[in-house]
Amino acid sequence: MTDTIRVFAGDCTITTDGDTKQRRRGEVVAVLKPDDTLLVHDVDGYQPVEWLTRAETAHATLDGDTFTLVAATSDRRLRVDCHTCYSISRFPGSKAGIPVGTCPHCDGALTQADRNVSCLDCRREYRIPRRASVGDDTCECGLPTMCVERGERFELCIDRDCRTVLDAVSARFDREWDYPDCGADLRILWRGGIIAGCDRYPDCETAFGVPEGRIVESCTCGLPAFRTRTGRRCLGSDCAAVG
Ligand SMILES: [Zn+2]
Ligand SMILES: [Zn+2]
Ligand SMILES: [Zn+2]
Ligand SMILES: [Zn+2]
Repeated sequence: MTDTIRVFAGDCTITTDGDTKQRRRGEVVAVLKPDDTLLVHDVDGYQPVEWLTRAETAHATLDGDTFTLVAATSDRRLRVDCHTCYSISRFPGSKAGIPVGTCPHCDGALTQADRNVSCLDCRREYRIPRRASVGDDTCECGLPTMCVERGERFELCIDRDCRTVLDAVSARFDREWDYPDCGADLRILWRGGIIAGCDRYPDCETAFGVPEGRIVESCTCGLPAFRTRTGRRCLGSDCAAVG
């Protein structure tokens, strides 16, 4: 879906109600964002003369050649009444993300914002895991790859349908470890996240989330130990062994 940024320009009266009540008049540009943020800019400086961020309601009324903009939260209201309209425009808008490559489908620019990589042209979107870093390399399919740490560092396509993190972790670590208490293999599975679960399930219900991080050593309990962002930890979330 394409977001729209709407831009209104003209000689306007700007009225605010709430903690501060004020009326101003001037030739201004108002920007209404898809998240209902309303900004009113005059000729001075970088700061809007008035604004309301993520209003609860915001709408534009067009009346002949003029417009009225109203944005409100429970305790504040910003209103822009146009006397002489210079321009009313709408533009496709997106987040300004970090450029990470070129779309193999349409040659558009791929950008990353938060946990999404998206194409500015065809608008295809790829959701990436938290803390995955989108690398400089390219998958065979043409999309950029990302680095994910699960036991070791995996370089994977950002398209989950191309090769999922689960597939890669499973190909590398399925049956790699056994559970010391019962001796059965641990299987790599998806249960709302990547887990290593005992092969004897349901007789044995042991399952551990596979931490984000690299395996650095073997724990004294026999399971692998990971170095994570918060320190060293055993795959066995209940493991008491130290070092
Ligand atoms: Zn594209
Ligand atoms: Zn791919
Ligand atoms: Zn078991
Ligand atoms: Zn342990």
